[in-house]
Amino acid sequence: MQFTVDSIEGSELPIYIGGEWRPSKSGATLESFDPTTGAPWYRAADGSEDDIDDAVAAATGALKDPAWRGMTQTDRGRLLYRLAELIEQNGEALAQIETRDNGKLLREMRAQSAYLPNYYRYFAGMADKIQGDVIPVSKPDVLNFTMREPLGVIGVIVPWNSPLYMMTCTVAPSLCVGNCVVIKPSEHTSASAIAFAELVKEAGFPDGAFNVVTGHGATAGDALTRHPGLAKIAFTGGTETGRKVAANAGRMLVPCNLELGGKSPHVVFGDADLERATTGLISGIFAAAGQTCVAGSRCFVQAPAYDEVVDRMKQGAEAIRIGHPKDEDTQLGPLALKAQLSKVQKYIALGQEDGAQLVTGGRRPQRDDLGEGWYFEPTVFANATNDMRVARDEIFGPVASVIKFEDEADLIEMANDTAYGLASGIWTKDIDRAMRFAKSVDAGTVWINTYRAPSMMTPSGGFKESGYGKHNGFEAVRELTRLKSVVIDHSGKTADPFVMKLETGGS
Ligand code: NAP
Repeated sequence: MQFTVDSIEGSELPIYIGGEWRPSKSGATLESFDPTTGAPWYRAADGSEDDIDDAVAAATGALKDPAWRGMTQTDRGRLLYRLAELIEQNGEALAQIETRDNGKLLREMRAQSAYLPNYYRYFAGMADKIQGDVIPVSKPDVLNFTMREPLGVIGVIVPWNSPLYMMTCTVAPSLCVGNCVVIKPSEHTSASAIAFAELVKEAGFPDGAFNVVTGHGATAGDALTRHPGLAKIAFTGGTETGRKVAANAGRMLVPCNLELGGKSPHVVFGDADLERATTGLISGIFAAAGQTCVAGSRCFVQAPAYDEVVDRMKQGAEAIRIGHPKDEDTQLGPLALKAQLSKVQKYIALGQEDGAQLVTGGRRPQRDDLGEGWYFEPTVFANATNDMRVARDEIFGPVASVIKFEDEADLIEMANDTAYGLASGIWTKDIDRAMRFAKSVDAGTVWINTYRAPSMMTPSGGFKESGYGKHNGFEAVRELTRLKSVVIDHSGKTADPFVMKLETGGS
């Protein structure tokens, strides 16, 4: 690959439109920072509305091009298989870029880039298995069937926390069904999408099927979501930005997929295996330094187990090894953005102001070897209540609020008393209770005796202010195609022109 950490360092990255790399039309660039030092490490093209126009035009051109439009499903699948192979060969380079850009553990980014080929293969296999139905309408001599067609150009906007993984959730099923994509990555993590474009080109996708415009959300992102050439917007990011995106989509009357924020309830009943459960709680909130949409940031613990779980969480949090994300034994790296660090610090003060008890953490680690990096200690607030700001707002950092509950009724009331509805988890040995929780909780995903365990086959997406629409599995393909009904009258008869042709007979 020409784009590697070494070649990117100190360079100016281009955008990728219609199979070509070029600077933004205005020539403007933006800085990207290394979270472990706080220092800039490359510049990306700062795309504008003009670049978005070009990218949508290139994607629209590819949609009409027989090289893409006329390609058989099996051949589209072959391209996706080829892309999977290339990702596998270049997985280490992609993981290194992502870690450098967003500060997440190299171990975690390696695991993600090792997973991406499977993701593309899963949809490669699906490409020639997408079919319609024959509908048994009650009309003699009438054949009705349905066809699934590509939607068109999909605008894809992704955040900085898992850029390639989030992008893949829309790109793999989109290319599988014959759509074209225009991607706007976060200005904080532009590099991996540009490096990925190189693999898409090498795999042999027709020019224009895959485009990347880097730039600011408020300019390039906004221009993409207002573009009349889009058939759908797939947005992953914060709820407030999601509202703006949905408003733009509403004006254009195009559908949206909104994968937004969360404040997920993660529940421990007194009968649970407390060691396993606490490890689950720690993973749910401290993995990726809490910067995951499904972070189990509201930890509900039943009264008899409360003190023991808080104590175990304290010990677990204090044992977490904070360090450089590239070190093999590091468990918690820096936050990805300076603004994120300030936000976490603000919520530590708000938690204390609202009366939560700071059990551990709450500050930047006092260690010279961490320099100016945006590190923050894993933090546990005990005696939190559901109405505190630390329990209501998405912090997107390593901050757990541990809330006591008495019984199931009490728990469900509190678990659902949130604006969000993305994910949830429960630890108990009682399967009846777990199922009652699964049926009652307002969350798009329910994990029972596990947490943060997604799969490309498992439909996922939020309710309420966590958004709408689904990633993964056949649901993703359904949402990225349009369904057309075809009706053929093969009776050879001429009907009364002034009467609608409804079913006859029956009651
Ligand atoms: P964000 O500020 O909403 O940004 C997300 C993306 O939207 C970025 O690419 C951003 O570009 C762009 N953007 C910003 N303003 C825009 C606008 N007016 N129009 C169009 N695009 C715009 O969110 P974030 O801070 O990057 O990401 C964290 C959030 O994402 C959290 O709330 C997290 O829960 C959520 N998330 C959800 C999921 C899920 O699957 N539900 C997964 C991961 C993350 P710039 O960065 O260049 O501004």
